[in-house]
Amino acid sequence: MSIPAPVLAIVVPCYNEQEVFAATERQLRELVVRMAEEGLVSPLSYVAYVDDGSRDRTWELIEEAALAHPDLDRGVKLGHNVGHQNALLAGLEAVERSCDAVVTIDADLQDDVNAIPRMVEKYREGFEIVYGVRDSREADTWFKRNSARAFYLTMYRLGVESVDNHADFRLMSRRAVVELLKYKERNIFLRGVVPRIGLRQTQVVYDRRAREAGESKYPLRKMLNFAVDGITSFSIKPVRMVFALGVVFVVIALFIFVYTLCRYFAGETIEGWTSLMLSIWFCTGVLLLGLGIIGEYVGKIFLEVKERPRYVVESLRGFDAPEL
Ligand code: UDP
Ligand code: MG
Repeated sequence: MSIPAPVLAIVVPCYNEQEVFAATERQLRELVVRMAEEGLVSPLSYVAYVDDGSRDRTWELIEEAALAHPDLDRGVKLGHNVGHQNALLAGLEAVERSCDAVVTIDADLQDDVNAIPRMVEKYREGFEIVYGVRDSREADTWFKRNSARAFYLTMYRLGVESVDNHADFRLMSRRAVVELLKYKERNIFLRGVVPRIGLRQTQVVYDRRAREAGESKYPLRKMLNFAVDGITSFSIKPVRMVFALGVVFVVIALFIFVYTLCRYFAGETIEGWTSLMLSIWFCTGVLLLGLGIIGEYVGKIFLEVKERPRYVVESLRGFDAPEL
């Protein structure tokens, strides 16, 4: 391990988590103390809880913890519920300047906290991003497992890069966080953006457990929203599909053209059928083509307004001379 012990910040988004908070807080605090004692992380390391507009006692509990353990626990309270991904970003922005590395983890501790020391070891070997990858999803319901699989498969088909079986449990170096925060888009899908940053990346495998207490804060509605956001904030392939459909319709129209004319000249049709058949297929095809073309431009606008960084510089040689 060539890199010195980092100041580690653990960022935990919390939405109505009063049932699990006490257990989570104790486990994470003990973990940070233990890692600091072992010299794995700096004694200045801490845990930052982001209250995502909870309506229960979560924020009071965070405040109490921050008072009781001022060196170890910090809190960020958001004005209203902005969702898991934005809460994570709020946490990252809050800790960015006061840490060397960040681990993000859910408040319900479904992800094994014992993977954190292993992530830190990877960081100290020189990795900038360490993904927590779950070994099994036994503890999740059948529905959750399969809907997640279908979602990742769809994402993959649509050309969105993401790490299999990885949720938002990961370690990022400060540098990686700085690069991530350059992605200014409002609808951010972290699991898709992080792999795009590049830099040295690796994985740590762990077992996913059942939620310790309380219920999932991701009802079906939020899960669907998340899936739609993930796809539409990354891919303009759905628009291309409309265009492709237009091409298919126009081709079908050509076949129908030949077919209806044959029937017409054979005298097997009734009045009006030929022209109706032709116009339905041809007009629909042309409409879809038009939509597809407009969609291409809208897609370009969509990619532009994100103002994503064009590249990430990983290292420089020979540029160390003082500036003129
Ligand atoms: N969460 C949040 N805002 C929300 C929904 C969830 O900050 O609007 C947090 C929640 O407190 C938890 C994490 O996101 O720390 C993941 O939520 P949950 O465990 O309910 O999701 P699941 O594991 O069921 O996918
Ligand atoms: Mg959970």
